[in-house]
Amino acid sequence: MSATTVTRGGTPYTPTYADSIDTKKCIGCGRCYKVCVRDVLTLIDRGEDDEVDEDDWDDEDAKAMMVVANPGDCTGCGACGRTCPKGCFTFVAA
Ligand code: SF4
Ligand code: SF4
Repeated sequence: MSATTVTRGGTPYTPTYADSIDTKKCIGCGRCYKVCVRDVLTLIDRGEDDEVDEDDWDDEDAKAMMVVANPGDCTGCGACGRTCPKGCFTFVAA
């Protein structure tokens, strides 16, 4: 069942929460980090993720990438996805 809430004006809406970031697309620009007021996101060195193959990166010069480190703190505001220039985010309903 999806979590539903209301706007200040009383309009119902169903938030969707930051679930994952496409590590191949992410260029580590930090835009999403700057807009998140809940400390959900963390920038990590690409060398810390053994799962990511350097040949698969969109920008092979990118040295860092963002991860959804604290998904449980996300309010589903959507700001991170709106500001990401690479369309990296996937959102899911609760
Ligand atoms: S949806 Fe909002 S609270 Fe959740 S990670 Fe993105 S900016 Fe942060
Ligand atoms: S805004 Fe997009 S490209 Fe930039 S660090 Fe965040 S997820 Fe990566």
